[in-house]
Amino acid sequence: MRKNIAQYSAPGPFLAMLLFAWMLLFISVASAQEPVPAFSPAADAFDAKRAWEHLITQCNFGPRVAGERGHRLCRDYIVEQLKSNGCTVELQEFSAFIPLINDERRFTNIIAKIDTPSTQAVAISCHWDTRPIADYDRIPSLRDTPISGANDGASGVAVLLEAARVFKHHPPPFDVYLLFFDAEDLGRNRQKKEWALGSQYFAKHMPDDFQIICGFNLDMIGDKDQRFLYEKKSLELAGKWTRAFWRLGQRHYPQCFSDATINEIVDDHAPFLAKGVPYFDVIDFDYDAWHTTQDIPASCSAASLSRIGKITVEYVMQTLPQLCEKVENP
Ligand SMILES: [Zn+2]
Repeated sequence: MRKNIAQYSAPGPFLAMLLFAWMLLFISVASAQEPVPAFSPAADAFDAKRAWEHLITQCNFGPRVAGERGHRLCRDYIVEQLKSNGCTVELQEFSAFIPLINDERRFTNIIAKIDTPSTQAVAISCHWDTRPIADYDRIPSLRDTPISGANDGASGVAVLLEAARVFKHHPPPFDVYLLFFDAEDLGRNRQKKEWALGSQYFAKHMPDDFQIICGFNLDMIGDKDQRFLYEKKSLELAGKWTRAFWRLGQRHYPQCFSDATINEIVDDHAPFLAKGVPYFDVIDFDYDAWHTTQDIPASCSAASLSRIGKITVEYVMQTLPQLCEKVENP
């Protein structure tokens, strides 16, 4: 048997090399037919390292829970970063009683605007607060611990801050609102109205001049194992804008954007949809560390921030102008 095997496998290396050469040829022909699309210079300028540093800085402040030191430090940091990139910044303050912590607290929405000669605007949002309890932690004794919120809080902020820097060097075709909502993550389970308080407040007191083509919210976008599914309400009520974002995402990162849909999620896009403003949610809800003490930088990656950052910038710079042209010149 041994001899037979030796005789049989003798031509193996040659065949393997032939097969390998054939595969190489096939791959190069296939990739020549479908080149990886290039990003615009603006999207290319999105710097993964800078975004990652924003994420780490926020986590180092400690939990961003209203009334606590980390919350104050983070608010000042976001404002300073936005101003240094030429945004106008307004603080919208409000108070609310929070059943989850049985206390009233003072909150701050941070509203930044990048002005352009355009009369149209788009909004990009995130939440900057973090959940005061790790209620889904595997270890029961840790469930009262505030989470670090590397993904659930810091990731969206990190992308928006780096996008602000990019837009300073590559002026967008529309005015851009960058909205940082407070008090997103203070709800009790099954109490829908207790979540997304910052965006609820903003939508309720929306200034008359806040007119947007559409908006989108980035939440939990930094998971190192990143994959986005459509959120049901976004697809139903802002389908055109949502699909265009996914198409762009699928073109550049097919492995990260699925055609599947998840159920409605209560998030910061919802108060806008309730007012008839097209607004979609970009959220990767399949995150093992969700509302646990493991929502730390090690569960996230700079590459994930970079992917969604580049898509965000490209959507504003390239996709939206095309969509708007189609609306104006059907
Ligand atoms: Zn959360």
